[in-house]
Amino acid sequence: MSIKSSIKKLAESVPSEVKIVAVSKFHSTDEIMEAYEAGQRIFGESRVQELVQKNHELPKDIEWHFVGGLQRNKVKQIAPFISLIHSIDSERLMREVNKQAAANNRTIPCLLQIHVAEEDTKSGFTPDECLQFLSKGVLKEYTHVKFVGIMGMATFTDDEDKVRSEFQELRQLFDKVKLQYFANDSDFKEISMGMTGDYPTAIEEGSTMIRVGTLIFGER
Ligand SMILES: *Cc1c(COP(=O)(O)O)cnc(C)c1O
Repeated sequence: MSIKSSIKKLAESVPSEVKIVAVSKFHSTDEIMEAYEAGQRIFGESRVQELVQKNHELPKDIEWHFVGGLQRNKVKQIAPFISLIHSIDSERLMREVNKQAAANNRTIPCLLQIHVAEEDTKSGFTPDECLQFLSKGVLKEYTHVKFVGIMGMATFTDDEDKVRSEFQELRQLFDKVKLQYFANDSDFKEISMGMTGDYPTAIEEGSTMIRVGTLIFGER
């Protein structure tokens, strides 16, 4: 199937309030333009160099999201234009994003990355670490970072019950954090969960943002 028809089919099959992040890492600008011409505007990348290059070459109304592990020494390069960073996994990274956002006179929307999967390779705060971090009350020091929700990945497995229970864990954490720390903040509303292999389950469990690459662009 072409990129255009894949994206249209996906957009028709998910509820309209669920945002689709087309994860275009390792795919060419031509391929991104195909999705763009089908109406897609939100794209996700996981490598700074590649993202900077694509941002330079592609239409300015694209909303770029950063979805992978982000090195602190590279934040500076994306700070001028990034629309949402999904992968804040440490306070040190938060501090750097805050600093670079301030240097650009911006506030950068971010998600707290939460580790619920089995694999150690997936980074992020565990739910306990997240609650502990928030309880320190230091978030208000980061005046140029705007937290709008959480992001997580499920274990890579065929066991749908396991995937579902991890998504439920993310949803429950979101509800708790929202109630305790963001009850009066209407911008704190995003749960970024679900990829090509598991997005239907993620949506059933309350995802507001799915990050889909392979289904749209094919294998990387
Ligand atoms: C690559 C990537 C995706 C997209 O994965 P697909 O399985 O190709 O849909 C989603 N989220 C993150 C963090 C990724 O790195």
